[in-house]
Amino acid sequence: MRRERYDAVIVGGGHNGLVAAAYLARAGRSVLVLERLGRTGGAAVSAPAFPGVDARLSRYSYLVSLLPRKILDDLGLRFAVRKRPVSSYTPTRRGGRDTGLLVHRDPDRTRESFWRLTGSDAEFEAWRAFYGAAAHAAERVFPTLTEPLPEEDELRRRVGDDRIWDMFFTTPLGETVERTFADDLVRGVVLTDGLIGTFSPAGAEDLRQNRCFLYHVIGGGTGDWDVPVGGMGAFTDALADAARAAGAEILTGHEVSGIDADGTRAEVAYANEDGTGTVEARHVLVNASPEALAALLGEPGPEPAEGAQLKVNMLLERLPRLRDREVDPREAFAGTFHVSETFEQLEAAYAEAAAGRLPAAPPSEVYCHSLSDPSVLGEDLVRRGYQTLTLFGLHAPARLFRGGAAANREARARLLDATIAQLDAHLEEPLADCLAEDANGDPCIEAKTPVDLEHDLRLPGGNIFHRDLSWPFRTGGAQGRWGVETARANVLLCGAGAVRGGGVSGIPGHNAAMAVLGR
Ligand SMILES: Cc1cc2nc3c(=O)[nH]c(=O)nc-3n(C[C@H](O)[C@H](O)[C@H](O)COP(=O)(O)OP(=O)(O)OC[C@H]3O[C@@H](n4cnc5c(N)ncnc54)[C@H](O)[C@@H]3O)c2cc1C
Repeated sequence: MRRERYDAVIVGGGHNGLVAAAYLARAGRSVLVLERLGRTGGAAVSAPAFPGVDARLSRYSYLVSLLPRKILDDLGLRFAVRKRPVSSYTPTRRGGRDTGLLVHRDPDRTRESFWRLTGSDAEFEAWRAFYGAAAHAAERVFPTLTEPLPEEDELRRRVGDDRIWDMFFTTPLGETVERTFADDLVRGVVLTDGLIGTFSPAGAEDLRQNRCFLYHVIGGGTGDWDVPVGGMGAFTDALADAARAAGAEILTGHEVSGIDADGTRAEVAYANEDGTGTVEARHVLVNASPEALAALLGEPGPEPAEGAQLKVNMLLERLPRLRDREVDPREAFAGTFHVSETFEQLEAAYAEAAAGRLPAAPPSEVYCHSLSDPSVLGEDLVRRGYQTLTLFGLHAPARLFRGGAAANREARARLLDATIAQLDAHLEEPLADCLAEDANGDPCIEAKTPVDLEHDLRLPGGNIFHRDLSWPFRTGGAQGRWGVETARANVLLCGAGAVRGGGVSGIPGHNAAMAVLGR
Protein backbone atom coordinates (compact mmCIF):
# COMPACT_ATOMS: atom_id res chain seq x y z
CA MET A 1 0.00 0.00 0.00
CA ARG A 2 1.62 3.24 -1.12
CA ARG A 3 -0.63 5.79 0.54
CA GLU A 4 -2.35 6.30 3.87
CA ARG A 5 -5.35 8.04 2.33
CA TYR A 6 -7.36 7.38 -0.85
CA ASP A 7 -10.21 9.11 -2.61
CA ALA A 8 -12.00 5.76 -2.59
CA VAL A 9 -11.45 2.48 -0.77
CA ILE A 10 -13.45 -0.40 -2.23
CA VAL A 11 -14.36 -3.30 0.05
CA GLY A 12 -14.32 -6.40 -2.14
CA GLY A 13 -12.81 -7.14 -5.54
CA GLY A 14 -15.81 -8.86 -7.09
CA HIS A 15 -16.60 -7.80 -10.66
CA ASN A 16 -18.68 -4.84 -9.42
CA GLY A 17 -15.92 -3.57 -7.13
CA LEU A 18 -13.55 -3.76 -10.08
CA VAL A 19 -15.95 -1.87 -12.36
CA ALA A 20 -16.22 0.91 -9.75
CA ALA A 21 -12.42 0.92 -9.32
CA ALA A 22 -11.82 1.20 -13.05
CA TYR A 23 -14.28 4.07 -13.54
CA LEU A 24 -12.94 6.03 -10.55
CA ALA A 25 -9.27 5.46 -11.40
CA ARG A 26 -9.88 6.50 -15.02
CA ALA A 27 -11.45 9.70 -13.67
CA GLY A 28 -8.19 10.41 -11.85
CA ARG A 29 -9.23 9.36 -8.34
CA SER A 30 -6.86 7.45 -6.07
CA VAL A 31 -8.41 4.02 -5.51
CA LEU A 32 -7.61 1.05 -3.30
CA VAL A 33 -9.46 -2.28 -3.60
CA LEU A 34 -9.25 -4.62 -0.58
CA GLU A 35 -10.30 -8.22 -1.33
CA ARG A 36 -10.36 -10.88 1.35
CA LEU A 37 -9.78 -13.85 -0.94
CA GLY A 38 -6.48 -14.57 -2.65
CA ARG A 39 -8.00 -13.60 -6.00
CA THR A 40 -10.37 -11.05 -7.51
CA GLY A 41 -13.69 -11.76 -9.24
CA GLY A 42 -16.01 -12.86 -6.39
CA ALA A 43 -18.65 -15.15 -7.93
CA ALA A 44 -17.54 -14.31 -11.49
CA VAL A 45 -14.39 -16.38 -11.95
CA SER A 46 -12.83 -19.23 -13.92
CA ALA A 47 -11.10 -21.94 -11.95
CA PRO A 48 -9.44 -25.31 -12.52
CA ALA A 49 -11.98 -27.16 -10.36
CA PHE A 50 -10.51 -30.67 -10.76
CA PRO A 51 -6.94 -31.67 -9.80
CA GLY A 52 -4.65 -32.25 -12.76
CA VAL A 53 -7.35 -31.44 -15.33
CA ASP A 54 -6.70 -28.66 -17.84
CA ALA A 55 -10.20 -27.13 -17.71
CA ARG A 56 -10.96 -23.63 -16.45
CA LEU A 57 -14.64 -23.69 -15.54
CA SER A 58 -16.83 -20.69 -14.79
CA ARG A 59 -17.15 -22.08 -11.30
CA TYR A 60 -20.14 -20.02 -10.13
CA SER A 61 -21.80 -17.60 -12.60
CA TYR A 62 -21.62 -18.81 -16.17
CA LEU A 63 -23.76 -16.78 -18.63
CA VAL A 64 -23.83 -13.06 -19.38
CA SER A 65 -26.91 -11.02 -20.16
CA LEU A 66 -27.14 -7.96 -17.93
CA LEU A 67 -23.75 -6.44 -18.74
CA PRO A 68 -24.32 -3.22 -20.73
CA ARG A 69 -22.16 -2.70 -23.83
CA LYS A 70 -21.60 0.82 -22.50
CA ILE A 71 -19.51 -0.48 -19.59
CA LEU A 72 -17.27 -2.53 -21.89
CA ASP A 73 -16.82 0.48 -24.18
CA ASP A 74 -16.29 3.06 -21.41
CA LEU A 75 -13.59 0.91 -19.81
CA GLY A 76 -12.05 -0.26 -23.10
CA LEU A 77 -12.36 -3.92 -22.09
CA ARG A 78 -11.24 -6.71 -24.38
CA PHE A 79 -13.92 -9.24 -23.59
CA ALA A 80 -16.32 -11.00 -25.93
CA VAL A 81 -19.48 -13.02 -25.60
CA ARG A 82 -20.86 -15.55 -28.05
CA LYS A 83 -24.54 -16.09 -28.91
CA ARG A 84 -25.96 -19.54 -28.29
CA PRO A 85 -27.69 -21.16 -31.29
CA VAL A 86 -30.25 -22.72 -28.97
CA SER A 87 -31.96 -20.89 -26.16
CA SER A 88 -33.39 -23.95 -24.41
CA TYR A 89 -34.35 -27.59 -24.69
CA THR A 90 -36.78 -29.33 -22.35
CA PRO A 91 -37.10 -33.11 -22.57
CA THR A 92 -40.29 -34.91 -21.61
CA ARG A 93 -42.17 -38.16 -22.17
CA ARG A 94 -45.57 -37.85 -23.82
CA GLY A 95 -47.95 -40.42 -25.24
CA GLY A 96 -45.42 -43.15 -24.50
CA ARG A 97 -42.58 -41.53 -26.45
CA ASP A 98 -39.58 -39.37 -25.58
CA THR A 99 -39.84 -35.89 -27.01
CA GLY A 100 -39.07 -32.32 -25.99
CA LEU A 101 -39.32 -28.61 -26.69
CA LEU A 102 -36.44 -26.94 -28.53
CA VAL A 103 -36.33 -23.13 -28.52
CA HIS A 104 -33.96 -22.24 -31.34
CA ARG A 105 -32.69 -18.90 -32.65
CA ASP A 106 -34.39 -19.90 -35.89
CA PRO A 107 -38.13 -19.26 -35.25
CA ASP A 108 -39.13 -21.91 -37.81
CA ARG A 109 -37.27 -24.59 -35.85
CA THR A 110 -38.99 -23.40 -32.68
CA ARG A 111 -42.42 -23.45 -34.29
CA GLU A 112 -41.79 -26.95 -35.59
CA SER A 113 -40.78 -28.11 -32.11
CA PHE A 114 -43.89 -26.60 -30.48
CA TRP A 115 -45.96 -28.40 -33.08
CA ARG A 116 -44.17 -31.69 -32.42
CA LEU A 117 -44.80 -31.33 -28.68
CA THR A 118 -48.35 -29.95 -28.57
CA GLY A 119 -49.83 -30.81 -31.97
CA SER A 120 -50.83 -27.20 -32.75
CA ASP A 121 -49.50 -23.68 -33.27
CA ALA A 122 -51.43 -22.14 -30.37
CA GLU A 123 -48.70 -22.33 -27.72
CA PHE A 124 -46.08 -21.07 -30.16
CA GLU A 125 -48.21 -18.03 -31.01
CA ALA A 126 -48.81 -17.37 -27.29
CA TRP A 127 -45.04 -17.68 -26.74
CA ARG A 128 -44.28 -15.19 -29.50
CA ALA A 129 -46.75 -12.66 -28.12
CA PHE A 130 -45.50 -13.09 -24.54
CA TYR A 131 -41.83 -12.66 -25.42
CA GLY A 132 -42.73 -9.81 -27.77
CA ALA A 133 -44.16 -8.02 -24.71
CA ALA A 134 -41.04 -8.89 -22.71
CA ALA A 135 -38.84 -7.48 -25.51
CA HIS A 136 -40.90 -4.28 -25.50
CA ALA A 137 -40.25 -3.90 -21.74
CA ALA A 138 -36.58 -4.86 -22.15
CA GLU A 139 -35.85 -2.21 -24.77
CA ARG A 140 -37.29 0.48 -22.54
CA VAL A 141 -36.14 -0.64 -19.08
CA PHE A 142 -32.59 -1.83 -19.76
CA PRO A 143 -31.11 1.57 -20.75
CA THR A 144 -32.45 3.09 -17.50
CA LEU A 145 -30.33 0.77 -15.34
CA THR A 146 -27.23 2.92 -15.85
CA GLU A 147 -29.14 6.18 -15.35
CA PRO A 148 -30.17 7.75 -12.03
CA LEU A 149 -32.90 5.68 -10.36
CA PRO A 150 -36.28 6.60 -11.86
CA GLU A 151 -39.56 7.01 -9.99
CA GLU A 152 -42.08 4.22 -10.61
CA ASP A 153 -44.35 6.50 -12.66
CA GLU A 154 -41.48 7.64 -14.80
CA LEU A 155 -40.48 4.06 -15.63
CA ARG A 156 -44.09 3.17 -16.32
CA ARG A 157 -44.26 6.06 -18.79
CA ARG A 158 -41.04 4.85 -20.44
CA VAL A 159 -42.56 1.37 -20.84
CA GLY A 160 -45.52 3.16 -22.37
CA ASP A 161 -47.99 0.25 -22.38
CA ASP A 162 -50.19 -0.41 -19.34
CA ARG A 163 -51.00 -3.97 -20.37
CA ILE A 164 -47.31 -4.86 -20.56
CA TRP A 165 -46.58 -3.02 -17.32
CA ASP A 166 -49.27 -4.99 -15.51
CA MET A 167 -48.01 -8.29 -16.96
CA PHE A 168 -44.52 -7.91 -15.54
CA PHE A 169 -44.75 -5.35 -12.74
CA THR A 170 -48.05 -5.89 -10.93
CA THR A 171 -49.60 -9.34 -11.64
CA PRO A 172 -47.91 -12.36 -10.00
CA LEU A 173 -45.92 -14.13 -12.73
CA GLY A 174 -47.68 -17.45 -12.10
CA GLU A 175 -51.05 -15.89 -12.83
CA THR A 176 -49.87 -14.37 -16.11
CA VAL A 177 -48.20 -17.62 -17.14
CA GLU A 178 -51.27 -19.72 -16.39
CA ARG A 179 -53.50 -17.29 -18.25
CA THR A 180 -51.18 -17.11 -21.28
CA PHE A 181 -50.16 -20.74 -21.78
CA ALA A 182 -52.10 -24.02 -21.59
CA ASP A 183 -49.24 -26.52 -21.60
CA ASP A 184 -47.65 -27.44 -18.25
CA LEU A 185 -44.18 -27.83 -19.76
CA VAL A 186 -44.33 -24.54 -21.67
CA ARG A 187 -45.57 -22.79 -18.53
CA GLY A 188 -42.65 -24.22 -16.58
CA VAL A 189 -40.02 -23.12 -19.09
CA VAL A 190 -41.32 -19.55 -18.79
CA LEU A 191 -41.61 -19.65 -15.00
CA THR A 192 -38.02 -20.81 -14.39
CA ASP A 193 -36.63 -17.37 -15.23
CA GLY A 194 -38.48 -16.06 -12.18
CA LEU A 195 -36.95 -18.67 -9.89
CA ILE A 196 -33.22 -18.47 -10.56
CA GLY A 197 -31.61 -17.99 -7.16
CA THR A 198 -35.06 -16.97 -5.88
CA PHE A 199 -37.03 -19.21 -3.53
CA SER A 200 -40.62 -18.41 -4.46
CA PRO A 201 -43.89 -19.98 -5.50
CA ALA A 202 -45.25 -18.85 -8.89
CA GLY A 203 -47.91 -16.70 -7.29
CA ALA A 204 -45.99 -14.97 -4.47
CA GLU A 205 -47.77 -11.74 -3.51
CA ASP A 206 -44.54 -9.82 -2.85
CA LEU A 207 -43.67 -10.41 -6.54
CA ARG A 208 -40.07 -11.42 -5.89
CA GLN A 209 -40.47 -13.96 -8.71
CA ASN A 210 -41.54 -11.10 -11.03
CA ARG A 211 -38.45 -9.08 -10.16
CA CYS A 212 -36.23 -12.10 -10.81
CA PHE A 213 -38.05 -12.73 -14.10
CA LEU A 214 -37.60 -9.11 -15.15
CA TYR A 215 -33.82 -9.26 -14.64
CA HIS A 216 -33.75 -12.45 -16.69
CA VAL A 217 -35.52 -11.05 -19.74
CA ILE A 218 -34.27 -7.46 -20.08
CA GLY A 219 -30.50 -7.97 -20.41
CA GLY A 220 -28.99 -6.06 -23.33
CA GLY A 221 -32.51 -5.01 -24.32
CA THR A 222 -33.09 -8.52 -25.70
CA GLY A 223 -32.89 -10.89 -22.73
CA ASP A 224 -30.32 -13.09 -24.51
CA TRP A 225 -27.98 -15.07 -22.24
CA ASP A 226 -24.59 -15.27 -23.92
CA VAL A 227 -21.46 -17.33 -23.40
CA PRO A 228 -18.46 -15.41 -21.97
CA VAL A 229 -15.55 -16.32 -24.25
CA GLY A 230 -12.75 -17.71 -22.07
CA GLY A 231 -15.18 -18.14 -19.18
CA MET A 232 -16.30 -15.67 -16.54
CA GLY A 233 -12.72 -15.21 -15.37
CA ALA A 234 -11.85 -13.62 -18.72
CA PHE A 235 -14.23 -10.80 -17.84
CA THR A 236 -13.00 -10.15 -14.33
CA ASP A 237 -9.35 -10.48 -15.35
CA ALA A 238 -9.94 -7.83 -18.04
CA LEU A 239 -11.59 -5.63 -15.43
CA ALA A 240 -8.75 -6.01 -12.93
CA ASP A 241 -6.24 -5.20 -15.70
CA ALA A 242 -8.23 -2.10 -16.70
CA ALA A 243 -8.47 -0.90 -13.10
CA ARG A 244 -4.74 -1.40 -12.50
CA ALA A 245 -3.80 0.21 -15.82
CA ALA A 246 -5.76 3.29 -14.75
CA GLY A 247 -3.82 3.43 -11.47
CA ALA A 248 -6.04 1.55 -8.98
CA GLU A 249 -4.25 -0.56 -6.36
CA ILE A 250 -5.75 -3.99 -5.77
CA LEU A 251 -4.72 -5.95 -2.70
CA THR A 252 -5.94 -9.53 -2.34
CA GLY A 253 -5.72 -11.41 0.95
CA HIS A 254 -6.92 -8.24 2.74
CA GLU A 255 -10.15 -8.67 4.70
CA VAL A 256 -11.91 -5.50 5.82
CA SER A 257 -12.95 -5.81 9.46
CA GLY A 258 -14.56 -2.44 10.18
CA ILE A 259 -15.58 0.91 8.71
CA ASP A 260 -15.76 4.09 10.75
CA ALA A 261 -17.39 6.83 8.68
CA ASP A 262 -18.69 10.30 9.60
CA GLY A 263 -20.10 11.32 6.24
CA THR A 264 -17.01 13.12 4.93
CA ARG A 265 -14.08 10.93 6.00
CA ALA A 266 -13.76 7.27 6.76
CA GLU A 267 -11.31 4.87 8.31
CA VAL A 268 -11.24 1.34 6.99
CA ALA A 269 -9.70 -1.40 9.16
CA TYR A 270 -8.37 -4.58 7.58
CA ALA A 271 -6.48 -7.75 8.40
CA ASN A 272 -4.01 -9.64 6.25
CA GLU A 273 -1.49 -12.40 6.86
CA ASP A 274 0.98 -9.89 8.33
CA GLY A 275 -1.47 -8.49 10.90
CA THR A 276 -3.91 -5.59 10.89
CA GLY A 277 -3.96 -2.01 9.60
CA THR A 278 -6.13 0.96 8.75
CA VAL A 279 -6.43 3.21 5.74
CA GLU A 280 -8.29 6.51 5.36
CA ALA A 281 -10.71 7.31 2.58
CA ARG A 282 -12.95 10.09 1.38
CA HIS A 283 -15.45 7.49 0.10
CA VAL A 284 -15.91 3.81 0.92
CA LEU A 285 -17.62 1.68 -1.72
CA VAL A 286 -18.82 -1.68 -0.46
CA ASN A 287 -18.91 -4.60 -2.90
CA ALA A 288 -19.64 -6.99 -0.02
CA SER A 289 -23.31 -7.70 0.81
CA PRO A 290 -25.63 -5.30 2.68
CA GLU A 291 -25.46 -7.74 5.63
CA ALA A 292 -21.67 -7.53 5.64
CA LEU A 293 -21.84 -3.74 5.37
CA ALA A 294 -24.06 -3.51 8.46
CA ALA A 295 -21.62 -5.72 10.40
CA LEU A 296 -18.66 -3.58 9.28
CA LEU A 297 -20.43 -0.43 10.49
CA GLY A 298 -21.52 -2.16 13.72
CA GLU A 299 -25.18 -1.53 12.86
CA PRO A 300 -28.19 -3.88 12.87
CA GLY A 301 -28.39 -5.77 9.59
CA PRO A 302 -31.22 -6.04 7.04
CA GLU A 303 -33.56 -9.07 6.96
CA PRO A 304 -31.28 -12.12 6.54
CA ALA A 305 -31.08 -13.23 2.92
CA GLU A 306 -31.40 -16.84 1.74
CA GLY A 307 -30.27 -18.49 -1.46
CA ALA A 308 -31.94 -21.60 -2.87
CA GLN A 309 -29.79 -23.29 -5.50
CA LEU A 310 -27.51 -26.25 -6.01
CA LYS A 311 -24.58 -25.51 -8.31
CA VAL A 312 -22.81 -28.47 -9.94
CA ASN A 313 -19.73 -28.35 -12.16
CA MET A 314 -18.75 -31.33 -14.25
CA LEU A 315 -16.30 -32.39 -16.94
CA LEU A 316 -17.47 -35.11 -19.34
CA GLU A 317 -15.54 -37.41 -21.64
CA ARG A 318 -18.48 -37.12 -24.01
CA LEU A 319 -21.99 -35.70 -24.05
CA PRO A 320 -24.60 -38.32 -23.12
CA ARG A 321 -27.00 -39.55 -25.80
CA LEU A 322 -30.64 -38.45 -25.40
CA ARG A 323 -33.73 -40.65 -25.34
CA ASP A 324 -35.38 -38.08 -27.64
CA ARG A 325 -33.68 -39.17 -30.87
CA GLU A 326 -34.94 -36.18 -32.83
CA VAL A 327 -32.57 -33.77 -31.08
CA ASP A 328 -28.81 -33.82 -31.30
CA PRO A 329 -27.22 -33.60 -27.80
CA ARG A 330 -24.91 -30.91 -29.21
CA GLU A 331 -27.96 -28.75 -29.78
CA ALA A 332 -29.83 -29.74 -26.63
CA PHE A 333 -26.94 -29.00 -24.25
CA ALA A 334 -25.82 -25.81 -26.04
CA GLY A 335 -28.90 -24.06 -24.69
CA THR A 336 -30.46 -24.26 -21.24
CA PHE A 337 -31.53 -27.88 -20.77
CA HIS A 338 -34.50 -27.87 -18.37
CA VAL A 339 -35.02 -30.92 -16.15
CA SER A 340 -38.19 -31.51 -14.08
CA GLU A 341 -39.19 -27.91 -14.59
CA THR A 342 -42.81 -28.07 -15.66
CA PHE A 343 -45.04 -25.57 -13.87
CA GLU A 344 -46.53 -28.27 -11.66
CA GLN A 345 -43.16 -29.80 -10.88
CA LEU A 346 -41.77 -26.40 -9.89
CA GLU A 347 -44.72 -25.70 -7.62
CA ALA A 348 -44.46 -29.16 -6.02
CA ALA A 349 -40.70 -28.75 -5.44
CA TYR A 350 -41.27 -25.35 -3.85
CA ALA A 351 -43.96 -26.75 -1.54
CA GLU A 352 -41.73 -29.63 -0.41
CA ALA A 353 -38.73 -27.38 0.25
CA ALA A 354 -40.91 -24.81 2.05
CA ALA A 355 -42.12 -27.66 4.27
CA GLY A 356 -38.50 -28.47 5.15
CA ARG A 357 -37.85 -31.40 2.79
CA LEU A 358 -35.49 -31.80 -0.14
CA PRO A 359 -37.63 -31.99 -3.32
CA ALA A 360 -38.21 -35.58 -4.44
CA ALA A 361 -37.86 -34.58 -8.11
CA PRO A 362 -35.44 -31.63 -7.90
CA PRO A 363 -35.79 -29.16 -10.79
CA SER A 364 -32.60 -28.02 -12.49
CA GLU A 365 -31.11 -26.60 -15.65
CA VAL A 366 -28.00 -27.79 -17.37
CA TYR A 367 -25.78 -26.17 -19.96
CA CYS A 368 -22.55 -26.99 -21.80
CA HIS A 369 -20.16 -24.04 -22.14
CA SER A 370 -17.52 -25.80 -24.21
CA LEU A 371 -19.91 -26.41 -27.13
CA SER A 372 -20.02 -22.64 -27.75
CA ASP A 373 -16.52 -21.84 -26.49
CA PRO A 374 -13.99 -24.70 -26.29
CA SER A 375 -11.23 -22.26 -25.22
CA VAL A 376 -11.93 -23.09 -21.55
CA LEU A 377 -10.48 -26.57 -22.18
CA GLY A 378 -6.85 -27.48 -22.88
CA GLU A 379 -6.08 -28.50 -26.47
CA ASP A 380 -5.73 -32.16 -25.56
CA LEU A 381 -9.19 -32.28 -23.93
CA VAL A 382 -10.74 -30.53 -26.94
CA ARG A 383 -9.10 -33.04 -29.28
CA ARG A 384 -10.47 -35.92 -27.20
CA GLY A 385 -14.00 -34.48 -27.33
CA TYR A 386 -14.35 -33.58 -23.64
CA GLN A 387 -17.12 -31.17 -22.65
CA THR A 388 -17.96 -29.11 -19.58
CA LEU A 389 -21.39 -29.34 -17.96
CA THR A 390 -22.89 -26.88 -15.51
CA LEU A 391 -26.03 -27.64 -13.52
CA PHE A 392 -28.06 -25.06 -11.59
CA GLY A 393 -30.68 -26.63 -9.31
CA LEU A 394 -33.71 -24.68 -8.09
CA HIS A 395 -35.68 -24.73 -4.85
CA ALA A 396 -32.82 -25.83 -2.59
CA PRO A 397 -33.01 -23.22 0.20
CA ALA A 398 -30.12 -22.80 2.63
CA ARG A 399 -32.29 -23.90 5.56
CA LEU A 400 -32.22 -27.50 4.24
CA PHE A 401 -28.43 -27.62 4.61
CA ARG A 402 -28.01 -26.06 8.06
CA GLY A 403 -26.94 -27.95 11.17
CA GLY A 404 -23.19 -28.23 10.69
CA ALA A 405 -20.72 -29.59 8.15
CA ALA A 406 -21.96 -33.19 8.31
CA ALA A 407 -25.61 -32.16 7.81
CA ASN A 408 -24.63 -30.00 4.82
CA ARG A 409 -22.55 -32.82 3.33
CA GLU A 410 -25.30 -35.39 3.76
CA ALA A 411 -28.06 -33.15 2.31
CA ARG A 412 -25.76 -32.14 -0.56
CA ALA A 413 -25.10 -35.77 -1.48
CA ARG A 414 -28.79 -36.71 -1.32
CA LEU A 415 -29.86 -33.73 -3.42
CA LEU A 416 -27.12 -34.32 -5.97
CA ASP A 417 -28.14 -37.97 -6.42
CA ALA A 418 -31.82 -37.06 -6.78
CA THR A 419 -31.02 -34.24 -9.23
CA ILE A 420 -28.83 -36.41 -11.46
CA ALA A 421 -31.49 -39.15 -11.39
CA GLN A 422 -33.98 -36.66 -12.87
CA LEU A 423 -31.53 -35.87 -15.68
CA ASP A 424 -30.72 -39.55 -16.24
CA ALA A 425 -34.41 -40.22 -16.90
CA HIS A 426 -33.95 -38.43 -20.25
CA LEU A 427 -30.62 -39.98 -21.20
CA GLU A 428 -29.75 -43.18 -23.06
CA GLU A 429 -26.78 -43.71 -20.74
CA PRO A 430 -26.32 -42.59 -17.13
CA LEU A 431 -24.46 -39.33 -16.74
CA ALA A 432 -22.01 -41.04 -14.36
CA ASP A 433 -20.72 -43.13 -17.30
CA CYS A 434 -19.76 -39.93 -19.16
CA LEU A 435 -17.89 -38.18 -16.33
CA ALA A 436 -14.17 -37.63 -16.85
CA GLU A 437 -11.72 -38.52 -14.07
CA ASP A 438 -9.27 -36.22 -12.35
CA ALA A 439 -5.60 -36.95 -11.61
CA ASN A 440 -6.62 -38.96 -8.51
CA GLY A 441 -9.05 -41.14 -10.44
CA ASP A 442 -12.08 -39.36 -8.94
CA PRO A 443 -15.03 -38.34 -11.14
CA CYS A 444 -14.92 -34.69 -12.23
CA ILE A 445 -18.00 -33.43 -10.43
CA GLU A 446 -18.33 -30.84 -7.65
CA ALA A 447 -21.54 -29.58 -6.02
CA LYS A 448 -22.11 -26.41 -4.00
CA THR A 449 -25.09 -25.78 -1.72
CA PRO A 450 -26.13 -22.31 -0.53
CA VAL A 451 -24.26 -23.03 2.71
CA ASP A 452 -21.10 -23.80 0.71
CA LEU A 453 -21.48 -20.52 -1.19
CA GLU A 454 -21.97 -18.63 2.04
CA HIS A 455 -18.75 -20.17 3.31
CA ASP A 456 -16.67 -19.81 0.12
CA LEU A 457 -17.89 -16.44 -1.16
CA ARG A 458 -19.68 -14.81 1.81
CA LEU A 459 -22.95 -14.74 -0.14
CA PRO A 460 -25.50 -14.21 2.68
CA GLY A 461 -27.46 -17.44 3.11
CA GLY A 462 -25.89 -18.41 -0.22
CA ASN A 463 -28.04 -15.83 -2.02
CA ILE A 464 -26.45 -15.39 -5.46
CA PHE A 465 -27.72 -11.78 -5.67
CA HIS A 466 -26.67 -10.88 -2.06
CA ARG A 467 -30.40 -10.32 -1.36
CA ASP A 468 -33.73 -10.54 -3.21
CA LEU A 469 -33.61 -8.49 -6.39
CA SER A 470 -35.11 -5.00 -6.26
CA TRP A 471 -37.48 -3.23 -8.64
CA PRO A 472 -35.53 -0.97 -11.01
CA PHE A 473 -37.28 2.12 -9.65
CA ARG A 474 -37.53 4.02 -6.39
CA THR A 475 -39.65 2.19 -3.81
CA GLY A 476 -38.89 4.37 -0.79
CA GLY A 477 -37.77 7.89 -0.04
CA ALA A 478 -34.28 6.95 1.19
CA GLN A 479 -32.84 5.27 -1.87
CA GLY A 480 -30.74 8.19 -3.08
CA ARG A 481 -30.12 9.31 -6.63
CA TRP A 482 -28.44 6.12 -7.90
CA GLY A 483 -29.84 3.41 -5.62
CA VAL A 484 -26.37 2.80 -4.11
CA GLU A 485 -26.48 5.35 -1.29
CA THR A 486 -26.60 4.40 2.41
CA ALA A 487 -27.42 6.34 5.59
CA ARG A 488 -23.73 7.47 5.70
CA ALA A 489 -23.14 10.05 2.99
CA ASN A 490 -19.67 8.75 2.06
CA VAL A 491 -20.43 5.02 2.24
CA LEU A 492 -21.99 3.50 -0.88
CA LEU A 493 -22.96 -0.01 -1.93
CA CYS A 494 -21.30 -0.97 -5.21
CA GLY A 495 -22.28 -4.65 -5.36
CA ALA A 496 -25.16 -6.97 -6.15
CA GLY A 497 -27.09 -5.87 -3.03
CA ALA A 498 -27.60 -2.33 -4.37
CA VAL A 499 -30.87 -1.37 -6.06
CA ARG A 500 -30.55 -2.73 -9.63
CA GLY A 501 -27.77 -5.08 -8.49
CA GLY A 502 -27.61 -8.85 -8.91
CA GLY A 503 -26.10 -10.87 -11.73
CA VAL A 504 -22.95 -10.23 -13.68
CA SER A 505 -23.84 -6.73 -14.83
CA GLY A 506 -21.31 -4.25 -13.50
CA ILE A 507 -24.31 -1.94 -13.10
CA PRO A 508 -24.05 -1.25 -9.34
CA GLY A 509 -20.29 -0.75 -9.75
CA HIS A 510 -20.95 1.76 -12.53
CA ASN A 511 -23.71 3.50 -10.57
CA ALA A 512 -21.65 3.81 -7.38
CA ALA A 513 -18.80 5.34 -9.38
CA MET A 514 -21.23 7.80 -10.99
CA ALA A 515 -22.59 8.71 -7.54
CA VAL A 516 -19.05 9.53 -6.36
CA LEU A 517 -18.08 11.42 -9.52
CA GLY A 518 -21.31 13.41 -9.48
CA ARG A 519 -20.53 14.88 -6.06
C1 LIG B 1 -23.59 -20.44 -8.47
C2 LIG B 1 -23.87 -19.10 -9.06
C3 LIG B 1 -24.29 -19.00 -10.37
C4 LIG B 1 -24.58 -17.76 -10.92
N1 LIG B 1 -24.89 -17.68 -12.25
C5 LIG B 1 -24.99 -16.46 -12.82
C6 LIG B 1 -25.03 -16.33 -14.23
O1 LIG B 1 -24.92 -17.31 -14.97
N2 LIG B 1 -25.16 -15.09 -14.74
C7 LIG B 1 -25.25 -13.97 -13.95
O2 LIG B 1 -25.39 -12.86 -14.48
N3 LIG B 1 -25.16 -14.07 -12.62
C8 LIG B 1 -25.00 -15.27 -12.04
N4 LIG B 1 -24.83 -15.37 -10.69
C9 LIG B 1 -24.90 -14.16 -9.87
C10 LIG B 1 -23.65 -13.32 -9.97
O3 LIG B 1 -22.51 -14.14 -10.00
C11 LIG B 1 -23.54 -12.38 -8.77
O4 LIG B 1 -24.73 -11.68 -8.58
C12 LIG B 1 -22.40 -11.40 -9.03
O5 LIG B 1 -21.18 -12.11 -9.20
C13 LIG B 1 -22.27 -10.43 -7.88
O6 LIG B 1 -21.11 -9.66 -8.13
P1 LIG B 1 -20.55 -8.65 -7.07
O7 LIG B 1 -19.26 -8.14 -7.60
O8 LIG B 1 -21.58 -7.64 -6.74
O9 LIG B 1 -20.36 -9.50 -5.75
P2 LIG B 1 -19.47 -10.79 -5.44
O10 LIG B 1 -19.16 -11.53 -6.68
O11 LIG B 1 -20.16 -11.50 -4.33
O12 LIG B 1 -18.11 -10.17 -4.91
C14 LIG B 1 -18.00 -9.59 -3.62
C15 LIG B 1 -16.54 -9.63 -3.22
O13 LIG B 1 -16.39 -9.03 -1.93
C16 LIG B 1 -15.45 -9.79 -1.19
N5 LIG B 1 -15.64 -9.50 0.23
C17 LIG B 1 -16.72 -9.81 0.99
N6 LIG B 1 -16.53 -9.38 2.25
C18 LIG B 1 -15.30 -8.78 2.28
C19 LIG B 1 -14.54 -8.13 3.31
N7 LIG B 1 -14.98 -8.00 4.55
N8 LIG B 1 -13.31 -7.63 2.98
C20 LIG B 1 -12.82 -7.73 1.72
N9 LIG B 1 -13.51 -8.35 0.72
C21 LIG B 1 -14.73 -8.85 1.00
C22 LIG B 1 -15.79 -11.21 -1.59
O14 LIG B 1 -14.72 -12.10 -1.30
C23 LIG B 1 -16.03 -11.06 -3.08
O15 LIG B 1 -14.85 -11.19 -3.84
C24 LIG B 1 -24.49 -16.59 -10.12
C25 LIG B 1 -24.02 -16.69 -8.83
C26 LIG B 1 -23.71 -17.92 -8.29
C27 LIG B 1 -23.19 -18.00 -6.88
